[in-house]
Amino acid sequence: MNTIAPVIEDFRLPPERVPETICEALDDEERLLLTNRAKELLEQENAVIVAHYYTAPDLQLIADAAGGYVSDSLDMARFGNESRADTLVVCGVRFMGETAKILNPEKRILMPDLEATCSLDLGCPPEQFNAFCDAHPDRTVVVYANTSAAVKARADWMVTSGSAVEVIRHLQDKGEKFIWAPDKYLGEYVQSQTDADMLIWQGSCVVHEEFKAKELLELKTAHPEAKVLVHPESPASVIQYADVVGSTTAIINAAVDLNAREFIVATDKGIFHKMQEAAPDKLFIEAPTAGKSATCKSCAHCPWMAMNTLKKLVNSLETGSNEIHVDMDIIERARRPIQRLLEFAELQKWQIYGANDA
Ligand code: SF4
Repeated sequence: MNTIAPVIEDFRLPPERVPETICEALDDEERLLLTNRAKELLEQENAVIVAHYYTAPDLQLIADAAGGYVSDSLDMARFGNESRADTLVVCGVRFMGETAKILNPEKRILMPDLEATCSLDLGCPPEQFNAFCDAHPDRTVVVYANTSAAVKARADWMVTSGSAVEVIRHLQDKGEKFIWAPDKYLGEYVQSQTDADMLIWQGSCVVHEEFKAKELLELKTAHPEAKVLVHPESPASVIQYADVVGSTTAIINAAVDLNAREFIVATDKGIFHKMQEAAPDKLFIEAPTAGKSATCKSCAHCPWMAMNTLKKLVNSLETGSNEIHVDMDIIERARRPIQRLLEFAELQKWQIYGANDA
């Protein structure tokens, strides 16, 4: 129904640029020195770390220990908004740094690596997206959080994976039809839940689209008691086996709340750090990726999230490098769709399995 396919390139990183592991290869002494230096610099600069669940445990631990925050993308921005720090060090990917800047233009926003981006953001270039919107002026433009500031500036609404279905239903009740961008899988999932009239941009997350249904079914058969938790950026063929489909926050909450000991988890494996912290007596199993049919590294870990390292964090704090800048004009326009979501979320007061995230 109404699905269109703009030309989208393949945005995988070349194999030689994909970081090998989820943790930086550091010996204990080096890790301790860097951790202590990062804490010292955070205090000196009146800075806090705002980190995504998919980043390395090293960074999440410092964020938690030094007055920062670890969460999903929208909550990261909310936290930044409320923080008294002068500098927010956003450990995540570029659109998260931009969103922090949009909501906190007076603050300095640093990132460990400005090259850390997202295939959804890269797959939705503002010029092409604007042309597409121009061709369908009768439609409400709803974009996922995983977009550039310039794309948000063109949108009527920004949504997160946890809020998308509710927002679309709310607007659908008013008779609206939609342009949805950029994630085709999340768009298809929302459409399956709402039957909304959506023109869907054909972007995808290089991590989530690697999860494979056949192998997941085999794993589920081998672990019949396990609950399957799936992020909706995954293909519908994978979502069909989910006990819970939800955002990163929803997945962590489900692991705590559900009466099960084993969980098969289809999202970036960076989330396992917080899941294990939140539910230490439970067992988390990675959902299978492409295996023999792999087209990329297929490791269930975002190569851009993995660019956030302790060494780069310390370097950014020491030198002030990797600051995020967004034009004031874009900030003004991009803030509107984000604020709409924040106000909607406030009204709805979603409680069950979290209302946030990317
Ligand atoms: S995990 Fe996927 S959606 Fe998240 S930042 Fe990486 S590429 Fe983007």
